[in-house]
Amino acid sequence: MSQLLAPKPNLSPAATAATASANTASPAAAFDVARIRHDFPILGLSVAGKPLVYLDNAASSQMPQAVIDRLVHYQTHEHANIHRAVHYLSETATAAYEAARVTLQRFINAPEAREVIFTSGTTDSINLVAQSWGRQNIKAGDEIILTVLEHHSNIVPWQMLAQEKGATIRVVPMNDAGELELDAYQALFNARTRLVCVGHVSNALGSIHPVKEMIDFAHAHGVPVLVDGAQAAPHLAVDVQALGCDFYAFSGHKLCGPTGIGILYGRAALLEAMPPYKGGGDMIHTVTFEKTTYAPIPNKFEAGTPPIAAAIGLAAAVDYISGIGMSVIAAHEHSLLADATEQLAAMAGVRLIGTARHKAAVLSFALQGIHPHDVGTLLNQEGVAVRTGHHCAQPLMARLGVAATSRASFAFYNTHADVDALVAGIRAVQKVFA
Ligand SMILES: *Cc1c(COP(=O)(O)O)cnc(C)c1O
Repeated sequence: MSQLLAPKPNLSPAATAATASANTASPAAAFDVARIRHDFPILGLSVAGKPLVYLDNAASSQMPQAVIDRLVHYQTHEHANIHRAVHYLSETATAAYEAARVTLQRFINAPEAREVIFTSGTTDSINLVAQSWGRQNIKAGDEIILTVLEHHSNIVPWQMLAQEKGATIRVVPMNDAGELELDAYQALFNARTRLVCVGHVSNALGSIHPVKEMIDFAHAHGVPVLVDGAQAAPHLAVDVQALGCDFYAFSGHKLCGPTGIGILYGRAALLEAMPPYKGGGDMIHTVTFEKTTYAPIPNKFEAGTPPIAAAIGLAAAVDYISGIGMSVIAAHEHSLLADATEQLAAMAGVRLIGTARHKAAVLSFALQGIHPHDVGTLLNQEGVAVRTGHHCAQPLMARLGVAATSRASFAFYNTHADVDALVAGIRAVQKVFA
């Protein structure tokens, strides 16, 4: 089989900028991956008698001991319900929860802490915007622009809204490398365009989209933009003010934090004008049976008891990641991606899927004549964990003309030895089918 030769991915503009601004002389020299790996107890596991090679970080990343310890400390010394009582534990828990909000605010450089809403994850964040902002602002005949690379989480909530309102979804196409076609994007704008929803980094292909340019263009047309940052927050320095986005959504569990916690950043003026999405305790100002008035943001959008421990754990994860430095992380992951891309591109019977010039450390591939499900099962027998399937992006799979891919996705605790294990694993899989 003639293999599709992939260009070596370039360092993304974000990664380049981040590296340039780091004050260490050489990020790579300052980064000791062996020491980092000691912080992650789960990386010491064996699977099928082989050392675990965990390459499914785009689905969920692992948790360092510092985050596990923070969760244990919270449950051991600080737990109570927040915002409701004057007793010692409730005040301690409330302080830790609100401090976590400030940590997340700084992590994405949001102007104000009240613009950071704790949700249960990216999916919940996007549904919040669809059900609150969307139901208030989208009317029959309006158009919402998505891209062909979106995760189902950034498709289905908009489809549900469009069906309810009689609105239309318009889709930005991509080229065969997995890069958005910006001319086509611009051509989609018209007087009915109300909202743009775009992923920052594709979970299936790793493409880093030019969201800043897309936001600038949308704003020139008076159209707000929601960015799905689930795959960007773990890999790039995210600055919502530099991007100028109106909403930014991401998840804790892809960022070395717990499951069940995520973030919605929204510009205060938009959040303040939006109706609540869920009703209940903690989101009200006054309640009578005649009329309820709502609490100010962020509480208006945090009905009920929130995932307090998970929010505090996520802040610990962000502290841990910030302690390493996003520029250092981006540089290391880029070297893993370049290594894996070069090695897989040179293998017979291996086709790389997604060869955008600007990529995060996600590598989708197909092995000629071997079903992705078999690839995943056989790699697991080598101790190598990859994802196989449609990656919650069925429209993208349809565009690529495949039902599924195999996907290796890297985190900063992965090593070049992990890349070699993937390559050796693929050779073993090919031997079974030879
Ligand atoms: C994982 C992911 C989501 C959904 O995140 P959840 O944590 O499952 O809510 C949305 N978009 C992208 C790009 C993702 O990778």
